[in-house]
Amino acid sequence: MKTIDQHCFKGEKVLIRVDFNVPVNAEMQITDDTRMRAALPTINKVLNDGGSVILMSHRGRPKNGPEDQFSLKYLVVQLGKLLDKKVDFVADCIGCEVKEKAASLSEGSVLLLDNLRFYKEEKAGDLDFAKQLAELADVYVNDAFGTAHRAHASTAVIAQFFPEKKFFGHIMTNEIQNINKVLNTTKKPLTAIMGGAKVSSKITIISQLMDKVDNLIIGGGMTYTFAKAMGGNVGNSLVEDDKLGLALDIIESAKEKDVNLCLPIDSINADSFDNDANTALSKVDCVQDGFMGLDIGEETASQFAEVIKNSATILWNGPMGVFEMENFSKGTKAVADAIVDATSSGAFSLVGGGDSVAAINKYEMADKVSYVSTGGGAMLEYLEGKTLPGIAAIMK
Ligand code: AMP
Repeated sequence: MKTIDQHCFKGEKVLIRVDFNVPVNAEMQITDDTRMRAALPTINKVLNDGGSVILMSHRGRPKNGPEDQFSLKYLVVQLGKLLDKKVDFVADCIGCEVKEKAASLSEGSVLLLDNLRFYKEEKAGDLDFAKQLAELADVYVNDAFGTAHRAHASTAVIAQFFPEKKFFGHIMTNEIQNINKVLNTTKKPLTAIMGGAKVSSKITIISQLMDKVDNLIIGGGMTYTFAKAMGGNVGNSLVEDDKLGLALDIIESAKEKDVNLCLPIDSINADSFDNDANTALSKVDCVQDGFMGLDIGEETASQFAEVIKNSATILWNGPMGVFEMENFSKGTKAVADAIVDATSSGAFSLVGGGDSVAAINKYEMADKVSYVSTGGGAMLEYLEGKTLPGIAAIMK
């Protein structure tokens, strides 16, 4: 891997693709600067080497050209504080003014460009737009893992203009190395815990993991498609009727591949999709008419916890129930607790994919697991075995 640690950036202008897609409130104050903080090691490495930094990112979803609410100008003050230095800003990402500012950058200084997605050429992967960005610098660094699955101008197309001088930043390196640690592990048993809403959105990953894992735990909304496929009564639970055959295929494939497939045995049900709904416990295949399953039951949770605690490598993607509602969050919390216990006993644990990250943050356990992937969609595609354009472009 071509990482920034293999290079000294002294005297070079370095164009870094960061992910500064941070949320702001109505007063345009940043409400969560995690993504900015995450980029600091890469930026500081270049500055400490004696290079200068040009930062580019997207933020939000501007529709048709510049929109004030999506400008990166609102990040300048906070970035200056985090870096403890003045950050220069230019209200565009290409054009004369940008060129002039980039050309006059002195050693150790930082220039932030405005939102790349103010140009439709960014998402279109336009070659000329990428070239104009590339002309600003001597070196290209990609540190935006969250957009690595997109073949955009700044994440993939641009790399060809730096055949010898393109590198992965620290976030990219960490994400790739940690996900590979799971996929290529020799620390067994390897357990994948898959939750979330639908079989359809997880099926490619499940099939991909089937050849690698020893234990496959399935929970969340997916549970009821499996239960119905096996002839159970699932009441009003979330079910993908067109995926019943697929659920049976997964069960069969687990048998063939000698994977210990752990499906829920009991279920916490509610008479409406509401935290204050009337609830009832049942076997997973006997959900009462008029009720829907919204969490795994206690018996399931303790069975899952046992498997997790005996694992040496753990991958967790997706909650076990509707954890956003307090009354249906116990199963997800029990799984998180078991992962933390296993980690403290020496297991390697990776938590990734939007909602399991939200859950682990909610329970303030992010520092008690081995690695929390911030990649979201990019991580899922990597696990699915797809080639991510942002990674391939640097590897070439
Ligand atoms: P995903 O993005 O596919 O990982 O799905 C995450 C979402 O699945 C969360 O918002 C959960 O509330 C939801 N979820 C988990 N379990 C269930 C369930 N039993 N019924 C409906 N939704 C669920």
